[in-house]
This record gives sequence, structure tokens and C-alpha cells, in this order.
Amino acid sequence: MDTAFFTAWIEESARRVAAEKDWLTGLDAAIGDADHGTNLDRGFTAVVQTLAAKEPDTPAALLNLVGVTLIRKVGGASGPLYGTAFREMSKTLGDDAEVSPAGLCDALDAGLAGVQKLGSAAEGDKTMVDALAPAVRELRRALQEGAEPREATGAAASAARAGAKATIPMQARRGRASYLGERSVGHEDPGAASAAIILTALATVAA
Ligand code: ADP
Ligand code: MG
Ligand code: MG
Repeated sequence: MDTAFFTAWIEESARRVAAEKDWLTGLDAAIGDADHGTNLDRGFTAVVQTLAAKEPDTPAALLNLVGVTLIRKVGGASGPLYGTAFREMSKTLGDDAEVSPAGLCDALDAGLAGVQKLGSAAEGDKTMVDALAPAVRELRRALQEGAEPREATGAAASAARAGAKATIPMQARRGRASYLGERSVGHEDPGAASAAIILTALATVAA
């Protein structure tokens, strides 16, 4: 997986975030402040513009630029969290032009660890971690069993979508939704939903 692959992933993520922007914002309207889709779409639009102006030469440089741009443009809780995820992914990749499937898995794992270090959310707290953590686990399991990247990222995306849906009965313990207490129950977490979109984009470009 080279720089062009990662560029395609980010562009596909941007397209999907734009398409699902109103849905994501609607999820955030139920348990937050109705800005998640708008925030993320603004960030990914800026990322695509930045990459069009200056295509970095390595996957690591590209993911770092994605992270920096998201931190600058998304705002809210999710901007620093997604920005950190991409920057931590970048740090694991070194200067290599080509990333192996295991390298991608380690990078995603580091991204998840960055999110958890910054936001202190565990699984079950009704956050993006509830989509990211099962996805990384499933990706690792599939690769260890010898699955091709296409199949393994597909399994990871399915796990992320299931993880996002599994936030519906949860009570939020982190972020703005936690202010609602029990009233946060019964709604899908917007950040878990967007994390599933980004992992679905990964599976699409790996296919
Ligand atoms: P804000 O809540 O500041 O308006 P967004 O609406 O863009 O930010 O993002 C909200 C999402 O951020 C939540 O749905 C949740 O998934 C995620 N989030 C918030 N706080 C945390 C945290 N501490 N750890 C992990 N994810 C979090
Ligand atoms: Mg919000
Ligand atoms: Mg906000």
C-alpha cells in the first residue's frame, strides 16, 4: 500500500463524509450539539484541498498532513481525536514508500491508542472507540488467519459498523453526550458512526 493508496482512502473518506454529513449531524443533534457532520466535512474538504496542492511523497508524510489539517479545521472533540489518530498512524510508518498489511494494522492500532490516550475513553463509553477498537481487532485477526487485505479490511469495516450500532443502547460516559446521562441511551454515537464510515472507505479502496 503506497502513497496513492492512502490518498485514495482519504479521498473516499471525504466523499463518504460529505454524503453522510446531514445524517452524522442528525445523530449529533440527538445527543450532542448537532455539528459532527459539519465539523468532519469541513475538515475532510480542507484535507482534500491540501492534498491537491501538495501531494506528500510517503504514506507517513501524507497521514501526518491529514492529521494536522483535521486538528486545524474540524474543531470540537472529534478534531483533536481524529487528528491525533492520523498523526499517531503516521509515526509508526517511518519513511517507507510501501506499507504492508501488518504495518497498516499496527498503524491503526497506534491511532486507536492515541485516541484513547487523549480522550480516556474505553470500549462501552459510547464513543468512536466503540467502532475503532473492534475494527482493529478484527483486522489483526483476519490478517493473522492469512486473509488478503481486501477481505481483512472488509471484515474490519463490518466490525466498525457493528460497533457503531452497538453504541445505541449504551449510556455515554465521555464527551458532550455524557452530560445527558441516561437520556443518551437509544441513539447511535456520531463519532462511532463516522469512524465506521472512514473504515468502510478503507475497505472500498482496498477492494
Ligand atoms: P463536539 O462534541 O465537541 O461537538 P463532535 O460533535 O465533532 O465534537 O464529535 C463528537 C464525537 O466525538 C462523539 O460522538 C464521540 O464519538 C467523540 N468523542 C467525544 N469525546 C470523546 C472522548 N473523550 N474519547 C473518544 N471519543 C470522543
Ligand atoms: Mg458535536
Ligand atoms: Mg461542537
